[in-house]
Amino acid sequence: MRVTMIGAGYVGLVSGACFADFGHTVTCVDTHEGKIAALKRGEIPIFEPGLDDLVASNVKAERLFFTTSLAEGVADAEAVFIAVGTPSRRGDGHADLSYVHQAARDIASAMTGYTVIVTKSTVPVGTGDEVERIIRETRPDAEFSVVSNPEFLREGAAIIDFKRPDRIVVGTDEERAKEVMTNLYRPLFLNQSPLLFTSRRTAELIKYAANAFLATKITFINEISDLCEKVGGNVQDVARGIGLDNRIGSKFLHAGPGYGGSCFPKDTLALIKTAQDYDAPIRIVETVVSVNDQRKRAMARKVITALGGSVRGKTVGVLGLTFKPNTDDMRDAPSIAIITALQDAGATIRAHDPEGVEQAKMVLSNVDYVDSPYQAADGADALVIVTEWDAFRALDLKRIQSMMAQPVVVDLRNIYRPEEMASLGFRYSSVGRGLAD
Ligand code: NAD
Repeated sequence: MRVTMIGAGYVGLVSGACFADFGHTVTCVDTHEGKIAALKRGEIPIFEPGLDDLVASNVKAERLFFTTSLAEGVADAEAVFIAVGTPSRRGDGHADLSYVHQAARDIASAMTGYTVIVTKSTVPVGTGDEVERIIRETRPDAEFSVVSNPEFLREGAAIIDFKRPDRIVVGTDEERAKEVMTNLYRPLFLNQSPLLFTSRRTAELIKYAANAFLATKITFINEISDLCEKVGGNVQDVARGIGLDNRIGSKFLHAGPGYGGSCFPKDTLALIKTAQDYDAPIRIVETVVSVNDQRKRAMARKVITALGGSVRGKTVGVLGLTFKPNTDDMRDAPSIAIITALQDAGATIRAHDPEGVEQAKMVLSNVDYVDSPYQAADGADALVIVTEWDAFRALDLKRIQSMMAQPVVVDLRNIYRPEEMASLGFRYSSVGRGLAD
C-alpha cells in the first residue's frame, strides 16, 4: 500500500520506517528542512535504538522516501497519517492543535481519489470531527474518511513496541476505512496483536485514558515511597508485593523522581482540560499532576538535605538528563526542574548524559556538560543519578568514591544497594528505601 506520514519525529519516523519494513511504500513528509535533508543524507535526526539500520535498509529497498513537499507525498497515497506534535498550549494546558489543523488543510488540497486520513498524533476527543470538517470545507467533493489510530509506542523501545504492540486501536465507523486499516496492519495481527475497532471519539479517549492511568500508577508508587521513607519500608519490595497481583501488574511501579517526557505531562493536562470543559472533572488526574509537579522540587530538596541543608557554592554531578534511558528526548525531563532548583539554591552543576546533551543544551543553561560519569563525579560534593542509563548501573564505585570531594550519592532511580554503598564509604540516599535521615 502507499502510505504517507506527515511529521517525521519520534512517532512519524518510527511508524513510517516500520510500515515500510512491512512492505508498504512510505513517504515521510516534514516541514523541517534540516530534518529531511539529514534523512536524505542517511542521518537519523533523533536517537532511537535500531532506527538507523531500519531506515537505511528500507531506503535501500526503495520503500521509504523523505520530502518536504506535502503535495508530492500525499497525491497518490491510500492512507495519510498525521503524526505532528500536539504540545501543551501555552497558558492553559489544552493541546495545541495548530499543527494538526494545518496538516489537515494541506492534505485536503493535495489528496486524490479515496484517501483515509489517520490521526496518529495524540489529540483531544472531537479532533477527528474537526479534521473532517476542515477537509470537507476545502474539498466538498472529495472521497475520504478520517480515522483515529493513537500510538502507544515508548521512546527507547519504539521499534519493538510498534512491531509488537499490545493492541492496535482504530477509531472509525466506516467499513471502507476499516478495510484499509486492516490491510495496513495485517502483518501485525498475523503476529496476534489485537486490532480493536471503536468509534472515533472512543479511540481518541483511549489514548488519554491510558496515559493518565500510567501516570497515576507512577504517582501512586511515588507517594507510597514517601511513606516508606517515613515508616522504614522498602518501596521496591512493596512494588513487587503488589505487582505480583495480576489485577495490579508489575509495570510502572518504579518509584523515582516523578514522571516526565514528551507525553505524560502534556496528555494528563489536556485530559484534565477536556474533562473540565465537559463538566466531568477527573479529580484523580488533577491530583496526580499536582503531586508530580511538587515531586521534582522535593527531589532537589533531597539533594540539599544529603549535603547537610545547603548546596551554595557546592558542585553537584548529575548522571542522566533525558526523561528516560535510550532516548535523546529532553521534553519535560525531571532533570530540568531538579537542576534548575539546585542552581537556584546556589549549586554548580556538572552533568553527563550518553545521548541527551545536545537537546539539554537548548533547555538548561550554566551547566558544565562532561563526557563521562567519572568526569561528573570528579571533585563533586554530591553525585545525583537522575536517569537509569545502563552505563550507570555498573560504575567503578571505588574510583568514584576516591574522586569526589564528598562521598555523597543521591540515587533517584534506586539502581544501587544501600548496604553496598555504605560499605564503600558513601553517604547514600535513594527513593523509598528505609528511614529518611
Ligand atoms: P515530534 O515533535 O518529534 O515530531 C513532530 C514532527 O512534525 C516534527 O518533526 C515537525 O517538524 C513536524 N511537523 C509539524 N507540523 C507539520 C506539518 N504541517 N507538516 C509536516 N510536518 C510537520 O513529536 P512526536 O514525539 O513524534 O509526537 C507526535 C505525536 O505523537 C504527538 O501528538 C504525541 O503526543 C504523540 N505520541 C508521541 C509518543 C512519543 O513517545 N514521542 C508516543 C505516542 C504518541
